[in-house]
Amino acid sequence: MKTFYIETFGCQMNAHDSEKVIGTLLAQGYSQVESPEDAELVLYNTCSIRDKAEQKVFSRLQQFKRDHGKGKVFGVLGCVAQQEGEHIFERAPHVSLVAGSASYTKLPEMLVQLEAGNRRVTGLSLDTDATFDTPYTRRDNPHRAYITIIEGCDKSCAYCVVPFTRGPERSRTSESVLEEARGLAAKGYTEIQLLGQNVNSYRDPSERGWDFARLLRAVGEIDGIRRVRFTTSHPRDFVKDIIDAIDANPVLCDHVHLPVQSGSSAVLARMQRLYTRDEYMRRIEWVKSAKRRIALTTDIIVGFPGETEAEFQETLDLLDEVGYDSLFSFKYSRRPNTAALALADQVSEEEKGRRLTILQERQRAIQIRRNAELVGLIEETMAEGHNHATGQWIGRTSQNRTLNFTHAELASPNGRTLVGSYLPVRVTRAGPNSLAGEAVL
Ligand code: SAM
Ligand code: SF4
Repeated sequence: MKTFYIETFGCQMNAHDSEKVIGTLLAQGYSQVESPEDAELVLYNTCSIRDKAEQKVFSRLQQFKRDHGKGKVFGVLGCVAQQEGEHIFERAPHVSLVAGSASYTKLPEMLVQLEAGNRRVTGLSLDTDATFDTPYTRRDNPHRAYITIIEGCDKSCAYCVVPFTRGPERSRTSESVLEEARGLAAKGYTEIQLLGQNVNSYRDPSERGWDFARLLRAVGEIDGIRRVRFTTSHPRDFVKDIIDAIDANPVLCDHVHLPVQSGSSAVLARMQRLYTRDEYMRRIEWVKSAKRRIALTTDIIVGFPGETEAEFQETLDLLDEVGYDSLFSFKYSRRPNTAALALADQVSEEEKGRRLTILQERQRAIQIRRNAELVGLIEETMAEGHNHATGQWIGRTSQNRTLNFTHAELASPNGRTLVGSYLPVRVTRAGPNSLAGEAVL
C-alpha cells in the first residue's frame, strides 16, 4: 500500500484543491496518513500570496531534508510551485515533484512517473483551458461542500501573484456545476460554497452562456440545499442582479465578501483595481438596500507603495462608512512578477505594522457595535461542532457569524449530536468576534 501525507497552506481554493488531489490519490491506490513521518509521499500544497506564506513551505522542506535518504518522495504543489518552478529543485534538491494547480488534471500521469523513479517531475504549463473536475473529491466536511466554478484570474491587480500562479480564467459549464451540486445534495450535504478568485466573471462556456447570478439562482433551487455561499467577488464585476437573487431566495446566504483593498481612489488606481471609492460605495448601497440584512466583509491591504497618511485615513473612514461585519487585513508584501514592484516609495515595515494595528482596533470597535445589534434576535444556526470545555454548541449563522449556543435538552453529544442540523437560536450576548445564545426549543 502506497502512503501519502498532505499539508495545505492558504485560501479556500487551495483547501478545496487539496480535497480533489486527495481524492485522486486515493483513486490511484494510495492511502492517506496523518504525519509526514509515516508517509512515502509527502506533499505540500502551497500559497505565495504573501512572502510569509511562501517561506513556510521552505522551512517545512528544510525540516524533512534528511528524510529524503529514507526513501521518501517530496512534492510541492500550488502557487509556490508555479511561481518558483524548477528553481525549487535547486533550492530543495530532495523535492521530486513540482506542480501548479493548472496541471492537476495530469496528476495521475505525474504519479506514474514518480513511481517509475523519475526524480524531476513537473507540471508547470499555464497554457490550459481545462478545469480540474474530478469525481474523486475527498471532502473534509460532511455538511458543507466547496465547488469550484471558475479557476484562474484575468485581472491584473498590481500587488497580486494569482494571475501568474493560477493562470487565465476558465469557467466550468453550468451543467457540470449543477450536476456536482445535485450529487452533493443527494449525499446529504446542505451547504454549498461556490469558489473562484473572481466568481463574478463566471461565464458558462456552454451554449447556455449563463452569468454568475443565473448560476447562483439555479444552485439555490436544488432540493435539499439549505445554504449557498460564494467567494470571492471582485467589486468591478459585482452586479445588482446578485442582490436581487439573494432577495428572492433565503437559501442564498445573507453575506457578501467584497474586497475593497483601500478606501482611497488614488491608491485603488495605483493598485489597478478598476474601480473608484464611489463606484465601490454604489455596490455597498445595493447590498444595504436588500430586503434582508446582508453581512458585509472585506479585505484591506495597508502600506501599499506610496500610501500616504491621508490615504490611509480614507480607508479608516471607509470602515466607518460601510460598517463591515468583519475583515481580513494585511500588510502589503512585495511579490515576484507583479507590477507594484516597479513603484517607488515603499512604506516601511514599522509603519505598515502601525497602520495595521490602528485599522484592526478601529474595526474591532465597529464589530462590537454591529454584533451588539443582534442581541435579542433569533438567528437560524447550523451546528458545526461542540466545545466540551464550555458545554456550548458551535454554530454558524447565514451571515457567517459564529454563534455559540447552549441547548436545554442536549448539553453534550450524548449519543445524539446536533452537528449538521439547523436550529433557531436566540442571541443573548455579543463579542467582537462571535455571538453567544440559546437554542429556542
Ligand atoms: N481574488 C480575490 C480578490 O480579488 O479580492 C482574493 C485574492 S487573495 C487570495 C486574498 C487577499 O490577499 C486579497 O484580497 C488581498 O487583500 C490580499 N493580498 C493579495 N496580494 C497581496 C500582497 N501582495 N500583499 C498583501 N496582501 C495581499
Ligand atoms: Fe489577485 Fe486581483 Fe485576481 Fe483577486 S482579482 S486574484 S486580487 S489579481
